[in-house]
Amino acid sequence: MTFFEAKIPPIRELRHPETALAHGALSCPSPKQYRSQKPHECPIFSQADRSFTQGSICPLLPALGIMCSLPKTVVLLHGAVGCGSCANGNNLNVRAGNAQRGRSSGDVVWLSTALGELNVVGGGEAKLGEALLEADRAFKPEVILAVSGCLPGVIGDDLDAIVARVQPQTKARLMAVHCEGFKSRFMATAYDVVYHALGRHLMPEPSKKIEKLPDTVNVMNVGSMGLVDENELSRLLAGIGLKTNFFPVFSDPLSFHQAAAAILSVSVCPTHDDYFLTRLEEQFGVPYIIHHMPIGIENTRLWLTDVAERTGRQKEAKKLIIKEEKELNLALKEFKPLLAGKTAFIAAGEYRSLATSSLLRELGFIIKGIRSFHFDQYAEVELEKLTRANQEFIYNVANVQPFEEANLLKRNPPDIFLGHWHGNSTAARLGIPTQVIYNSGYAYLGYQGVYDLARRLHRRLSHSSFYRRLGRYASLPYRSQWYQENPFSHIRNRGVQ
Ligand code: SF4
Repeated sequence: MTFFEAKIPPIRELRHPETALAHGALSCPSPKQYRSQKPHECPIFSQADRSFTQGSICPLLPALGIMCSLPKTVVLLHGAVGCGSCANGNNLNVRAGNAQRGRSSGDVVWLSTALGELNVVGGGEAKLGEALLEADRAFKPEVILAVSGCLPGVIGDDLDAIVARVQPQTKARLMAVHCEGFKSRFMATAYDVVYHALGRHLMPEPSKKIEKLPDTVNVMNVGSMGLVDENELSRLLAGIGLKTNFFPVFSDPLSFHQAAAAILSVSVCPTHDDYFLTRLEEQFGVPYIIHHMPIGIENTRLWLTDVAERTGRQKEAKKLIIKEEKELNLALKEFKPLLAGKTAFIAAGEYRSLATSSLLRELGFIIKGIRSFHFDQYAEVELEKLTRANQEFIYNVANVQPFEEANLLKRNPPDIFLGHWHGNSTAARLGIPTQVIYNSGYAYLGYQGVYDLARRLHRRLSHSSFYRRLGRYASLPYRSQWYQENPFSHIRNRGVQ
């Protein structure tokens, strides 16, 4: 039995029990050195935890980011009224993404059953059934995603049973999505949850004969690339004679079945993709590559070379890579003198944080520290690349925890901090110039991404007086004693006080 035959997907903690959420090292040894330690002494792969935690990320946040982008789809959140309110924040991204793709109507349609105290006592199934019928009547979508938050999971509402009961009465295809935040502390569970629903309900029957799409490669995008990055990867793959099928964000849900017809799937981020890639291979015979993230010069080269080797296009790839890297290195000359020797701290998802650090080293930066949301075996290859240069850096694994970050940055401020737009305020309030590590309007991936990031960093470091002034007047909520303590003093192995 595969995971996809079960109604509810497994959480990351069960699928990858070695995944770490808490780790701190003031100088980072390589994964090999970690591996040589006894398992219980190996902090990065052991189940370390914190004695104090400042926050976490509900998997609904990234899950809604994907689901809200799907055209002709209504997202119906079955839960307390606050669950899913982050979907309002997705509207800007979804509108921009639709506009970039030439679609006129682009607003997110998300609804909530807004469960209250009476539903906690009496159950919320009747409310969900009515809401599904109303959503179908009022919005006439092709798909309605019934998404469960914590509350129905706690009181025991049977989401799948209600969806099955109401389905004959709606024109829209109904799908249950199990995303109860309390079940998993790993935000990355969100990707599995969404792919589970899509994989169960929108793919062809495995027994059906599928006509292959020649020269077509799946590239999965759960929102970590904007259209500009998709275009860059399409351009590079077209340069070796391949066509691309991007999904799931901004793709018509009823077109996902095309993924089963591709000759190969290529991941741009193992954190996002591994669950569905195995489904495509096991059920539809689509092989996959899950290895490098095409951020940075070396990583783009390795990513493209992997694809070329699997599709018999080595010669074309070699020619393309030589030409592209020659042009890029010429273009970067303008920026490198200012960037060389500058120090950087990077905070992001596990793969992006490590791959971006490699890119920054290529531009001449010294990496002072990296903070990843989590760490699993897929990221070993990236950590290995960074540690082979023998330059020490701080490595922190933290699902948010800005108190650790504040301590690290205060005692050792870098010249620039790169983090997600909602995570840069700690650094900014310490007077450190910041750069948003991901914005769907900007390029990050492929060779174009290297150039664009270098240009933006050059501009930020040339004009950083705003941050210096902000640092003079802004403050952080921690006592001065905290900055004297070991930033990782709250991290310990489970069961050890
Ligand atoms: S943790 Fe639970 S209650 Fe909180 S937003 Fe996520 S699903 Fe809703």
